[in-house]
Amino acid sequence: MAGPAQELVFAPLGGVGEIGMNLSIYGLGPELRRQWLAVDLGVSFASEEHLPGIDLIFPDIRYLVAERKNLAGLVLTHAHEDHYGAILDLWPKLKVPIFATPFTAALLAAKRASEPGAPEIPVTVVPLGSRFKVGPFDVELVSMAHSIPESNALIIRTPAGAVLHTGDWKIDLTPILGDVTDEKKLRALGEEGCLAIVGDSTNAVRDGRSPSEKDVAKTIAELVKNARGRVAVTTFASNVARLRAVIDAARVADREVVVVGRAMERVIQVARETGYLEGVQDLRAADAYDYLPPNKVVALCTGSQGEPRAALSRIAEDQHPDVTLSRGDTVIFSARTIPGNEREVGRVMNGLIDQGITVITDRTHMVHVSGHPRRAELEELIGWVKPKILIPVHGEALHLSEHAALARRCGVKDVVQCRNGDLVRLSPSPGIIDEVPCGRLYKDGSLVVEADSRTVADRKRLSFAGAVSVALALTDKGELIDDPSLDLIGIPERDRDGGLMHEAVNDAVIETLQSLPRGRRRDPDAVAEAVRRAVRAAVNERWGKKPMCHVHVLTV
Ligand SMILES: [Zn+2]
Ligand SMILES: [Zn+2]
Repeated sequence: MAGPAQELVFAPLGGVGEIGMNLSIYGLGPELRRQWLAVDLGVSFASEEHLPGIDLIFPDIRYLVAERKNLAGLVLTHAHEDHYGAILDLWPKLKVPIFATPFTAALLAAKRASEPGAPEIPVTVVPLGSRFKVGPFDVELVSMAHSIPESNALIIRTPAGAVLHTGDWKIDLTPILGDVTDEKKLRALGEEGCLAIVGDSTNAVRDGRSPSEKDVAKTIAELVKNARGRVAVTTFASNVARLRAVIDAARVADREVVVVGRAMERVIQVARETGYLEGVQDLRAADAYDYLPPNKVVALCTGSQGEPRAALSRIAEDQHPDVTLSRGDTVIFSARTIPGNEREVGRVMNGLIDQGITVITDRTHMVHVSGHPRRAELEELIGWVKPKILIPVHGEALHLSEHAALARRCGVKDVVQCRNGDLVRLSPSPGIIDEVPCGRLYKDGSLVVEADSRTVADRKRLSFAGAVSVALALTDKGELIDDPSLDLIGIPERDRDGGLMHEAVNDAVIETLQSLPRGRRRDPDAVAEAVRRAVRAAVNERWGKKPMCHVHVLTV
């Protein structure tokens, strides 16, 4: 017997209106008895935001922690960092069952093994294309082409309707390795009836269709064949199809492949274990590089984003222990520069060009394609699935609004544009009905801290305007016992008139103490605050910046 209609809701807790950090949740049942399904748990990289000492940003999962007993599981769509990079750090707070396909699970295990102290995380490995239960949710995987093996869309079936959560995808009929996008299953979903698409908007501003991995492979093969000296190729390690293209290009050109960089070694190991590099020749470790003649080697390197510690940066600075390049050699950047990394990538490219090395990028050659659907592909998916509702996710505001407009043009009845933390009802009657807590966490050294914590804000101010530390010893009447002890950190030594900043600060401290009424001078907190203000004002007057100031008052 059918009970009252089940309510189905969706909320993005990350990845909407920003790049990276994907985390979505689906809830089934009446508000007080909702069961949740989480999809993905990704990171974002902090490079673009100037957060001193912070490398990674995570979605704030306090809502999921609060709802933990109702959280049935976490399904990972694929092993890109923006979808699974927060698991090692955040899973211990959730301890939720994780479901992933073999490549994703193996890459997670390899990552875990490379991080000392990382938690043991049980993962249920589910086959490609499989269908399984997660609490009240009936989840079916749909293979999608993307820029990593085993990208999956999820069909999430519930008594309130079926949702297609696309994950990251494109249509590529010749993806080099892995499955093509499962058109048949998607069309079948359209026949069965699909309530909503929650879909990738990354390339919704780009017309037409994405080129294929095969086009890239062809270009790389030609470049390698025609190169005279050494060739180095850098790409995202996780793009196994691209690695395969480079390996095949090397074989045809009668060159050996040398693998340079830990992330690259790790992915190749996992790809071999999971059958994605079957039949490829043996690859060499970096220490073999030196023995090979220049026209017999292709180096496959990490560092496509200009990461200073990665292989390519070190090669460009001639700091790599095994690998060197010189005039006449070629470096192929087979990757997109992620916004925020332009400067670092530019630095590496310039370093290489200054040494007479030929640099090839996707601006002049088809050496990279995106793994995300352009407009014709988005339209095609809508045509196959015929959803009643479409919710654009995975993109910045512009991408989301273009995806929304496209869906409306394609005749989708309800297009819901939401932001992180919006609780969207999918059934019955779609719309934003509430908000749930969301936000950001920072990985700070080995700790995970709240984004609004004072520490990072303090470091930002320190890096901008330095700090002054003042120590005062006062009698119980508030008289100075000795000269103030001052430390100026990161502050110019002299002002524009040549005056010593140290002296100016010292004068400001003494004058402040003298000007304070006797009663206030006996109150260490009042003294500290007055001195702090005076010191910052004195430095500001001479430098145009207010440093942080810490005053320590000791009463004897
Ligand atoms: Zn993604
Ligand atoms: Zn992806």
